[in-house]
Amino acid sequence: MDNYFTVQTNFFGENTAAGLVERFGSPLYVYNEAILRKRCREMAGLISYPNFKANYSIKANSNLEILKIARQEGLMADAMSPGEIHVLLAAGFRPEEIFYISNNVSEEEMRFAIDRGICVSIDSLSQLKQYGRLNPGGKVAVRFNPGVGAGHHEKVVTAGKKTKFGINLDLVSEVKRILREYNLKLVGVNQHIGSLFMEGSAYVESVKSILSTAEQFESLEFVDLGGGFGIPYHKQEGQARLDLKELDQKLTPLITQWTQKYGKNVLIKIEPGRYIVAECGVLLGTVHAVKQNYGITYVGTDLGFNVLARPVMYDSHHDIEVYKKDPSKKANEFMEVTVVGNICESGDIVARGRLLPAVEEGDILGIMDAGAYGYSMSSNYNNRLRPAEVLVREDGSVAVIRRRDTLEDLMRNFV
Ligand SMILES: *Cc1c(COP(=O)(O)O)cnc(C)c1O
Repeated sequence: MDNYFTVQTNFFGENTAAGLVERFGSPLYVYNEAILRKRCREMAGLISYPNFKANYSIKANSNLEILKIARQEGLMADAMSPGEIHVLLAAGFRPEEIFYISNNVSEEEMRFAIDRGICVSIDSLSQLKQYGRLNPGGKVAVRFNPGVGAGHHEKVVTAGKKTKFGINLDLVSEVKRILREYNLKLVGVNQHIGSLFMEGSAYVESVKSILSTAEQFESLEFVDLGGGFGIPYHKQEGQARLDLKELDQKLTPLITQWTQKYGKNVLIKIEPGRYIVAECGVLLGTVHAVKQNYGITYVGTDLGFNVLARPVMYDSHHDIEVYKKDPSKKANEFMEVTVVGNICESGDIVARGRLLPAVEEGDILGIMDAGAYGYSMSSNYNNRLRPAEVLVREDGSVAVIRRRDTLEDLMRNFV
């Protein structure tokens, strides 16, 4: 089997998967700094239009060390909650580098951002009025729903006619009326049409849409085009990457023409989350049982959906690599298996009907491209401990960047 990470990018540095598990325990999130930095640079330089910034969307992975690296690479950040703002500030982001994309938030949560001088994006007319009451005369941004969406699963399409997000385009005059009522200055418009597009046409269409909405407002300082840039989760089948150059070639002329018409070199932003962190993360787990149940071979691991929720939540595919416990045992025999976790739910399935090299107890599995929405969606369900996270530095050394939960952590909030 083609170990595309270990062979092509030396993912684990001088370490082996088994060595890392032995040192830091299983399951274990392993990140690779060189890959993270490469992806940050690709997004920071995505669009050649000069006044451009990429905002890292922290919900994909909020590890403090990863945030610090993203900031070093020149990214700004999007936050979806006061908790994310808190962690971003701790990572060194300045308030003006943070954009709070709020959604049905309380007055208290809105004030949290306003008090810190953080720009807030508003998602409905009722929340725009709330903002006006809390910060009359202030600066604000509005998230519009361009009426088109995109994404790999119904649950991640975040614009279009069937989602809760954004303000409909036919409400522009209402938005203007509320802005006047509270003397607010609209400094930005934003959108986010969905996650994981591998082909840019829906994104380009949505950009045309937001630009035409944007020109109906006079005081804009930025237009935020949203995130959703996909990564190839099917690398073992040779899936192609998103063509970033083509995106730039389509977007830059649109943006340049628009800014000339608008009469101002407005800041253009994007909001990538997954693209920055998915591929720099591999989740390692251990095989504890192999069995046959009525004709299906189950590989039982410690990779329950408390550790990685994506397959259960979105039917997501992750490529899987097998690292044999005994490397002298060549895995040249393949078998079709269903890889499951240790949670007491029959839906606790990492991969169904997958062809893997013969697996036995003690082998280590690598769940590829697990850096985004991996740890950040993990939980203590079944009172399991969330795993540690380690970073393989550019010099090959390995650092723990979040310790594994302890049993005491499970008791922490009881009074
Ligand atoms: C989740 C989210 C993103 C990031 O999406 P990715 O698919 O990870 O790029 C960007 N913007 C908003 C508003 C989001 O909710």
